[in-house]
Amino acid sequence: MAGPVARQFGGARRRLLDELQSKGVHDIAVIRAFDLTPRHLFVPTGVQHRAYEDAALPIGSGQTISQPSVHAKYLEILALKGTERVLEIGTGSGYQTVLLAHLAGQVFSVERIAPLLDRARDVIAQCAVSNVSLLLGDGTHGWKAFAPYDAILVSAASPDAPQPLLDQLAEGGRMLVPIGGRDEQRLVVITRRGERFERQDLSAVRFVPLVGDFGWSENGSEGTR
Ligand code: SAH
Repeated sequence: MAGPVARQFGGARRRLLDELQSKGVHDIAVIRAFDLTPRHLFVPTGVQHRAYEDAALPIGSGQTISQPSVHAKYLEILALKGTERVLEIGTGSGYQTVLLAHLAGQVFSVERIAPLLDRARDVIAQCAVSNVSLLLGDGTHGWKAFAPYDAILVSAASPDAPQPLLDQLAEGGRMLVPIGGRDEQRLVVITRRGERFERQDLSAVRFVPLVGDFGWSENGSEGTR
């Protein structure tokens, strides 16, 4: 992706890296993943000039690409070594999917909105990563075919941890999930120890709702199962 456009955004991307470091992101592998991932390709052209601000931006279909420092925090908590099998629920723009592809072994990502997944698929194809698999569907069911997962990232907020995702977590595996009401949630990390699931409450967060059988229903009530 050389050329004038890539160069134009290169400077802005380096400033974002500096900003992330000044906000306390110190994991070199995480910083490198941000350096390798062209965020301007993942946002609509109308907001492309803001692609390297540390801000959430609209990506269409009423959804948002999260703030880079939020992704960075998630990724630092997971402390991936490069060999893990990771499940992401809520592909959205595909930006975090590519960050994960640079940090893990295999990335499996599920999105329920077809136009978002189609666009993410196109952009991911431009990013020279070959360890990403995408699925259209309700991610509250997980992706059983490739389970168990060493890490699961849920990028949308749920009333509670969806049971199928707990079931698909590997021994010692960790799930990051925003849990709470539709407007405000707590970011929780859940670690599997045999049939026990240890929960650690991390911080207050705001995510779009996880809409599905084990999340919220379209009309705002809790899922049916
Ligand atoms: N990490 C993404 C975040 C996108 S916002 C990014 O930075 O671009 C959260 C995404 O979760 C939205 O695209 C939304 O459509 C998706 N989502 C919500 N409920 C879902 C479900 N049950 N299964 C799969 N994706 C879901």
